Amino acid sequence: MSAVTAGLQAVRARIAAAAAACGRDPREITLLAVAKGHPADALREAYRAGQRAFGESYAQEGAAHAAASADLAVEWHFIGPLQSNKTRGIAEHYAWVHSIDRLKIAERLSAARPEGLAPLNVCVQVNVGAETTKGGVPPEEAAALAAQVARLPRLKVRGLMTIPKPSADVTEQRHQFAVLRELLAALNARGLALDTLSMGMSDDLEAAIAEGSTLVRVGSAIFGTRRPKP
Ligand SMILES: *Cc1c(COP(=O)(O)O)cnc(C)c1O
Repeated sequence: MSAVTAGLQAVRARIAAAAAACGRDPREITLLAVAKGHPADALREAYRAGQRAFGESYAQEGAAHAAASADLAVEWHFIGPLQSNKTRGIAEHYAWVHSIDRLKIAERLSAARPEGLAPLNVCVQVNVGAETTKGGVPPEEAAALAAQVARLPRLKVRGLMTIPKPSADVTEQRHQFAVLRELLAALNARGLALDTLSMGMSDDLEAAIAEGSTLVRVGSAIFGTRRPKP
């Protein structure tokens, strides 16, 4: 068995165990494989082992991965920082964007989404740890942004995403994920119909699942340590 196949199986087992521990059905939790810093061959191996949803953090690397995987039925998710000069390519080639944190970028994505494709699924990124280096809106601004994005014709707001402040303490991890879970519930109480909590990565997916994650984004636990950022 390849290292990628073994990594993928180990992550699937972690998701199943974490779901069982809190009485959730593991089928409620989508695994997004993040092959950043790894060659397209690694992605192909994961595909061969049954993985279909892949996340990309950089537009250029994502385009290279997609070009090398054109024969595969991959569902592509963009999860990295958004630059306005890259919105057209992202609107044309992705099924999901998880990192919406400005109305202007959302408007550009909506305008560029081709008519022949389904609306682009999006999540509003929330900065729960209040770290200045991270993207995302402060929790108190998420409702206003989600409501504005929900009015754009070619986008479909599906939920919230966060990259928490790294912590080895499970209680602290859960606290940050709980902020996102409560925020999603508050937005739904105000009339939105959001079904996605994009939270949990290699080091904290158990805590995220315990707090209601519906989609975990996992890189190194599947593909191994990555090369330096491109
Ligand atoms: C790289 C990345 C991940 C995966 O991180 P790992 O710790 O390698 O699992 C998840 N989400 C985002 C936004 C990323 O950039």
